[in-house]
Amino acid sequence: MEIETGVPLARLTTIGTGGPAAAFARPSTLAELEEAVAWAAERGMDVVTIGLGSNVLAADEGVDALVVRLEGELASVSIDADLLAAGGGATNAVCLHRARSAGLGGLEFACAIPGTAGGGVRMNAGAYGSDWSTILRRALVVSRAGSGWLEAAELGLSYRHSSLERGAVVARVEYRLTPRPPDEIKAEVADLVARRKATQPTNKRTFGSVFKNPPGEVGAGRMIELSGLKGHRIGGAVISPRHANFIENADAATSADCLLLMAEACRRVGEEFGIALEQEVVLLGSDPEGV
Ligand SMILES: Cc1cc2nc3c(=O)[nH]c(=O)nc-3n(C[C@H](O)[C@H](O)[C@H](O)COP(=O)(O)OP(=O)(O)OC[C@H]3O[C@@H](n4cnc5c(N)ncnc54)[C@H](O)[C@@H]3O)c2cc1C
Repeated sequence: MEIETGVPLARLTTIGTGGPAAAFARPSTLAELEEAVAWAAERGMDVVTIGLGSNVLAADEGVDALVVRLEGELASVSIDADLLAAGGGATNAVCLHRARSAGLGGLEFACAIPGTAGGGVRMNAGAYGSDWSTILRRALVVSRAGSGWLEAAELGLSYRHSSLERGAVVARVEYRLTPRPPDEIKAEVADLVARRKATQPTNKRTFGSVFKNPPGEVGAGRMIELSGLKGHRIGGAVISPRHANFIENADAATSADCLLLMAEACRRVGEEFGIALEQEVVLLGSDPEGV
């Protein structure tokens, strides 16, 4: 399997920012993935998996790790009765399409989450009252300690959090779904997508929610808005005029621009509400799991 160098992460992230990966691999089988993880271990390098890059902000200076993107067999989808098996790199859109064709419901909530199966596990992604914990049966996890299936209960899934170890790669997942007529699935998805378009900047380059919603009635976006920051711009990045918990790449933004906006949002919300916002977006940098 080829190990590339200098691959710019700006090409692999939805916000379109980020410097080069120190090393980059596209394993397409379990054996290739294990080979990549061993390659990194021999060199004392961290492994960072990138899915669709829809919830990451990679440092402009680059990421000092072996970055892997799962392809081929590790992005494929199959269905057996009410069980959907997917590679960690399979997109939510493809999983949902296959589930709907097979008359299986349960994944509808993920229709507007532009990520992969593995990214969904790592983030316990969710929307409209459901998240990965509601569908995940088990995940095949590869790390330098070895490969093995973990049951959903062993993954510590909570609000936008999993207990996956640093460097662990979700190679495959199994979702337990429920029979549902395809027409009903289609109608619900259309409704959810329309709701998204009405409230979020779906046609802009973003990395999804910047901050987790703090406990209580008022969401992070509303707090940022009430702090007067909607539309606030630093360099090429702007706090979305549509939904303040999104940062848009308005014009050749850098990750540094986004980080400065995040720091300003934290400062102002702290002053206004006495709340310490916790970031949802994953920062990748010279210390790969934290800029
Ligand atoms: C327009 C928009 C709307 C969004 N809406 C939502 C929403 O409603 N709800 C929500 O929860 N999120 C939302 N997101 C954020 C994002 O789509 C989700 O967090 C998604 O699950 C990330 O998946 P990904 O494959 O793109 O992961 P990435 O963004 O590539 O990675 C995110 C994290 O997961 C890790 N990771 C990725 N793949 C694997 C793998 N195979 N094994 C181990 N770790 C892995 C990465 O290393 C990183 O730590 C939105 C994003 C955008 C841009």
